[in-house]
Amino acid sequence: MATQLFVPNFRVDECLEQIRECLEKGWTGMGFKTVEIENEWVEYTGLPHAHFLSSATAGLHLAFEVLKKKHGWNDGDEVISASLTFVSTNHAIRYAKLEPVFADVDQYLCLDPQSILQKITPKTRAVVFVGLGGNSGQLEEVSKICKERGLALVLDAAHMAGTRVNQKHVGHNADVSVFSFQAVKNLPTADSGMICFQDKADDELARKLTWLGINKDTYARTAAQGSYKWKYDVEELGFKYHGNSIMAGLALVGLKYLDADNAYRRQIASWYRECLQDAPNVRIVPIAPDCESSTHLLQIRVSNRDELLIKLNENDIFPGVHYTDNSEYAMYRSCGRCENALAASDEIISLPMHMGLTHKDIIIISKLVTEYAR
Ligand SMILES: *Cc1c(COP(=O)(O)O)cnc(C)c1O
Repeated sequence: MATQLFVPNFRVDECLEQIRECLEKGWTGMGFKTVEIENEWVEYTGLPHAHFLSSATAGLHLAFEVLKKKHGWNDGDEVISASLTFVSTNHAIRYAKLEPVFADVDQYLCLDPQSILQKITPKTRAVVFVGLGGNSGQLEEVSKICKERGLALVLDAAHMAGTRVNQKHVGHNADVSVFSFQAVKNLPTADSGMICFQDKADDELARKLTWLGINKDTYARTAAQGSYKWKYDVEELGFKYHGNSIMAGLALVGLKYLDADNAYRRQIASWYRECLQDAPNVRIVPIAPDCESSTHLLQIRVSNRDELLIKLNENDIFPGVHYTDNSEYAMYRSCGRCENALAASDEIISLPMHMGLTHKDIIIISKLVTEYAR
């Protein structure tokens, strides 16, 4: 049987019931279920605000737009970022006409606080921290640096739905956190995400910007009587970034099972650790000690990565690589090259991680990894 990297596990009947409700009500767009998932997400995470989006890529862009406007940053101001990430993180910085500056990663493959300190210049305005695979790395330390230096902290929490640090859901020490519910993330829909600002005014601006800058409230409050209901003002050059009720329905089902699913992911990870602990050529990427990771990824490092991938493919096992160092891409060649990230980029493999895997699967995969890793 072929073993894929990710296989989303949808509770089909419950998902169909959510979609049926939308169709029968005749309401598939923003509102209705999008309000419900926002409320549920606030309750689940304890974060003060949550706005449901079409994707996390949209959310990251929005995060930088809102912070730039709020603080009056200039075009070309710098954001310290990771090179070992999905390009969304760095595209989002550029969408907002800001410039990514890469800092290096630590043993957790997350930004290293010491490297951040070295990359701060008079033009630095923010840090974007990527919780790779659900790992919180040294996020606490990075948050301290940001507070001391007056930098904004954006958390790319695309892998972090359900990650807790010291028993608390992640996001509390960032100015804004962005979660992804994309098709193969650990809380899958098809495409959607959530943006969580600490600040109420930021959340309000974000809501306006996700619907093209339209403000219905001014009219809703003052002139909603009778025939003026259709009137609205356009106050910002906004975007079409809000989520819809069909996606929200899928997310509501996913959220119900998120903790149980993540617990099983951690079980799979512990099977991998057990099976691979004596493999001489395999290093498992550690999880920060205070972190209960969503375990979106289980990453190992080997020195013959490309060869091992081929061997595993020949055995019908299809792992992934998260990610190629972004400084290898034409778009990001000018953002700095970081030694640890580049080394990791050549060594990392994400082993299959999904709810359909059994202990037996992990034993088989681990045997092959042990045999072929150099
Ligand atoms: C998937 C991903 C994103 C983008 O999420 P979408 O919802 O697909 O837009 C951003 N950052 C990281 C690290 C991701 O893995």
